[in-house]
Amino acid sequence: MFTTGRLEGKACIVTGAAGGIGLETSILFARNGGSVILADLHDEGLQAAKKEMGALVPGAKFKIFKCDVSNEENVKALVAEADEWGGVDVMFNNAGIMHKDDDDAISTGEDVWDLTHKINVKGVWYGCKHAVLSFRKHKKTKGSIINTASVVALVGSATAQVAYTASKGAVLALTRELAMVHAREGFRFNSLCPAPLNTPLLQDFLGTDQAKRARREIHFPMGRFGEAIEQAHMVVFLASDESSFVTGQEMVVDGGMTKAYVTPE
Ligand code: NAD
Repeated sequence: MFTTGRLEGKACIVTGAAGGIGLETSILFARNGGSVILADLHDEGLQAAKKEMGALVPGAKFKIFKCDVSNEENVKALVAEADEWGGVDVMFNNAGIMHKDDDDAISTGEDVWDLTHKINVKGVWYGCKHAVLSFRKHKKTKGSIINTASVVALVGSATAQVAYTASKGAVLALTRELAMVHAREGFRFNSLCPAPLNTPLLQDFLGTDQAKRARREIHFPMGRFGEAIEQAHMVVFLASDESSFVTGQEMVVDGGMTKAYVTPE
C-alpha cells in the first residue's frame, strides 16, 4: 500500500469523513504522512472511522471532529482545530447528500431543494471561506482545496435528481471562480467529479432494485461502478505538491463514463 511521504507536514481536513470517499481519503492522507482531521455530522460514524484509522494506520496523527458543514460556526471551529498543527494546508470539502425524494423539476419539494443546497453548496462555500482565512492567518504561500462535485454536473441524467445535480453544478462554478480569485496567493482549488460509486450514498438509494441498478451500470465502459479508494488516489494527488500547477480543474474519475457513446457488451 502507499506509505510515501507525499503529504508529510501537511494538516488536512476532510468533511464527510465517516464513510465512503471521505474515509478512504482520510486513510490515504494518513498513509501518505498527512495529519488529518476527520469531520462528519454523524457521531457513530466518526467513532467507527476512528477505530478503522487506528487499526489500518498505526501511528497516524489524526483526530475526529463533529461538524455540520451547513453551519458556518461549526465549520469555523473545525478549521480552527488545525491551528495547533500550524493551520490547515489541505481542505477536502467532500460532505454531501442525495435526498431520496429528489426528483424532476415537477416533483421535487422545496424542502428537498433547500436542504440539498444548504449542505452541498453552502457547506462547500463555508469550507472554502474558512480555509482561505486560515491560509492567510498562518501566512501560507500555498494551500490546496478540493471540492467534491459529481459527473452529473457535467452530463445530464434521465434518472432525475435535480436538486443534487444543480448543487453539484454550483460546486464546479464556485471552485473554478475561487481558483482564479486566489491563484496569485498560491491557493489552488480543484473539483473532484466522481461517477456513481459503491458507497452507501448511492448503494442505499439503489437498494436491491436490479432494474434501477442496470439502468446505470450500462453506461460504464468498464462495466462496473467505481470504488471510493479510486477517488481517494486522485484527491491525494490534488492535495500534494505534485499537482502544484493544477488549479481550477474538474478532475473526472469515472471509468470513462463521460466519454462514452456505445459501451462494450
Ligand atoms: P457517503 O454517504 O458515504 O458519505 C457522505 C458523508 O457526508 C456521510 O458520512 C455523511 O454523514 C456526511 N454528511 C452528510 N451531511 C453532512 C453535514 N451536513 N455535515 C457534515 N457531514 C455530513 O457518500 P460518498 O459517496 O462518500 O459521498 C461523498 C461525496 O461524493 C458527496 O459529496 C457526494 O455527493 C459525492 N459523490 C458521490 C457519488 C457516489 O456515487 N457515491 C458520486 C458522485 C459524487
